[in-house]
Amino acid sequence: ARADIGVTGLAVMGRNLARNFARNGHVTALHNRTQSRVDELVAQFGAEGDFVASTDLASFVASLKRPRRVMIMVKAGKATDAVIDELVPLLEEGDIVIDGGNAHFDDTRRREQALRAEGLHFVGTGVSGGEEGALNGPSIMPGGSKESYEALGPILESIAVDVDGTPCCTYVGPDGAGHFVKMVHNGIEYADMQLIAEAYDLLRQGLGKTPAELAEVFRTWNEGDLESFLIEITATVLDKVDAETGKALVDVIVDAAEQKGTGRWTVQTALELGVPTTGIAEAVFARSLSGSVDQRKAVQAAGTLVGPSGASLTGAEAEGFVEAVRDALYASKVVAYAQGFDMIQAGSDQYGWDVDKGAMATIWRGGCIIRAQFLNRIKEAYDKDAALASLLLDDYFASAVSNAQDSWRRVVATAVRLGVPVPGFSSALAYYDGLRRERLGAALVQGQRDLFGAHTYGRVDKEGTYHTLWSGDGSEERQDTAGQ
Ligand code: NDP
Repeated sequence: ARADIGVTGLAVMGRNLARNFARNGHVTALHNRTQSRVDELVAQFGAEGDFVASTDLASFVASLKRPRRVMIMVKAGKATDAVIDELVPLLEEGDIVIDGGNAHFDDTRRREQALRAEGLHFVGTGVSGGEEGALNGPSIMPGGSKESYEALGPILESIAVDVDGTPCCTYVGPDGAGHFVKMVHNGIEYADMQLIAEAYDLLRQGLGKTPAELAEVFRTWNEGDLESFLIEITATVLDKVDAETGKALVDVIVDAAEQKGTGRWTVQTALELGVPTTGIAEAVFARSLSGSVDQRKAVQAAGTLVGPSGASLTGAEAEGFVEAVRDALYASKVVAYAQGFDMIQAGSDQYGWDVDKGAMATIWRGGCIIRAQFLNRIKEAYDKDAALASLLLDDYFASAVSNAQDSWRRVVATAVRLGVPVPGFSSALAYYDGLRRERLGAALVQGQRDLFGAHTYGRVDKEGTYHTLWSGDGSEERQDTAGQ
């Protein structure tokens, strides 16, 4: 046995990860259900490193040094379980099974528990960066036992992308922690993209700018606080002219955003954990609304749902609007990330993972779709205070958001007036105001709940739980045992 690591599942992701391992000097064992993928990889890229090709799972496992490190890169879901079932009888105590697919963290928790009972390590790892990242350096978010990371971490770190001398790979936490963090990362990606799309739509509708002019705006923004991969590719997309029609490509693309499901998972999980990740939720729902093509067509055909008159900005209204939208985008982005990091904290608390949030910001700086300068600021915030109650409380972000707030309010008010939907900008602002206000409307909700369901309420002036006898004499009773 001489292979350092093995990859089973050699479609785009697995093949590129295998090549990345081999290029970094690791002897890499190869396996795939359909043999041709193994043969093709060896024929095309065999010269890139030291590969050990196998025709069946038993010889693949036998080719690995102990503790064996087997990375599964097959279709997420049932296929992963099928491969694990086939693999487990061939492995020995202390071997490490790594699932680099896009698994739901609940599945990872279940699989980790089952393999632990067999004396095996199961590492559910998020791999970000798509096909290109897998080959040239992804961001890697591994969860599992600390012990398994000692044997596996150095290999993973060697293939991860490097930013300022730090690999974008670190131990995330036990069992499902890695896949959970990857899921939240994808949710944040949805929110970030939605906010950029709102900025584009609003500037286009409000100022009548062309896609090419807007490409220039985004290129300028990419030189400041907003510098990021997503802003950069936004300019590239907006600049693209369709060869066939000569129109801007963005005007030829069907206006219905699709989704593969990780955003939805993030929102479902956020609801279960009770964390208000409104930025991600609005982004997922905005994609759903855009995708309700028949309904949108029916509404437009009916022509009965009218908007405001006067759909663009002129004179003083237009002055400084581009900069105001930039500020609104930045502030909303801070909120979306603050919510995402709150969700990581909530998951970490719920499952006992002890996730280091600053370290997550660090490993998202490269490889990931959300890679950005901004993540350095988040890392610095958590370096200063790992127990920060909200990113919005960090000095840097607090002043950035409060400096932006006049613009932010102007932009949301303007969008509302123009009839341009900005669910991301406006919900982020509502969250900011909600967090900041000493009292919300929640006391009234508690009163209503007590009236119709005797759900009780607390009082600001004394301890205990109380109920008003709404349908009786209107007096108040203390309900908790301490009061009886
Ligand atoms: P796919 O998700 O398309 O999966 C294809 C691979 O799964 C093939 O190797 C296929 O084998 C194998 N497979 C499917 N069913 C079975 C089964 N029952 N038993 C054994 N093998 C099976 O490949 P990708 O490379 O796109 O993705 C791999 C994983 O990485 C997925 O979980 C995906 O979600 C995740 N991922 C993908 C990213 C991307 O950008 N594509 C980014 C990050 C993660 P065969 O050749 O025999 O059909």
